[in-house]
Amino acid sequence: MRYLILSDIHANLTALDAVLEAAKGKWDKAVCLGDLVGYGPDPNEVVEKIQSLKAVTIRGNHDKGVSDLTHSEDFNPVARAVLLWTHDQLRPENRAYVENLPKGSKPVDDFSIVHGSFLDEDEYVFWPMLAYEDLLESPTPVAFFGHTHIQGGFVLRGEEVSVLSSRPMPGKMIFPLTIEPKIKYLLNPGSVGQPRDGDPRAGFAIADLQHHLVEFWRVPYDIGEVQLRMAHAGLPEPLILRLTFGR
Ligand code: ZN
Repeated sequence: MRYLILSDIHANLTALDAVLEAAKGKWDKAVCLGDLVGYGPDPNEVVEKIQSLKAVTIRGNHDKGVSDLTHSEDFNPVARAVLLWTHDQLRPENRAYVENLPKGSKPVDDFSIVHGSFLDEDEYVFWPMLAYEDLLESPTPVAFFGHTHIQGGFVLRGEEVSVLSSRPMPGKMIFPLTIEPKIKYLLNPGSVGQPRDGDPRAGFAIADLQHHLVEFWRVPYDIGEVQLRMAHAGLPEPLILRLTFGR
């Protein structure tokens, strides 16, 4: 079974479409690690597309924020402004879908998915110290997380955690990672709609654990077209600009 692993789409339909085009015919089942909405201009279209993929999906902090605006105080002013905009844009049936996304982590066949960390769905796992606790907590040898928008992850060999910089180099689209026995993996597929690791291309992963393989992908998309739509929608300029740099 080959899994398409998506995370942090953030209402960027153009990026999601580029991902689906690149991954066409290469996966059997889709999963989504949350943050379908927030930041981008296409919340309804992204929610509907994820539903059409029948993806196994959990909620991210932006999905939670848009579902219950009492959480909006947890966000910075720019993110909060888009949260309110997104709340108004979402059609009732799509808002209901987002509100009903499961919280926390979820097992998917022989791996697990979580938005932030197994200890706290809203936690950012940036550093090996946090990853160590999370790797111990993970119920499966391989787990996928999102939230940081940084493709790669962490591995636990015995008691030692190391950072995995499994990103395709500029000009390359795929970084293949061989999954070894007796090692635990906490893997981030990267963000589809708002990468923050310095590569502006859309990130995702394809996992085939029966064949011990996870591919980390980056695909280009028409960033300028998304930025134009964001400007027309009146979304905050810092969010428009950051797409250019993937920061
Ligand atoms: Zn996110």
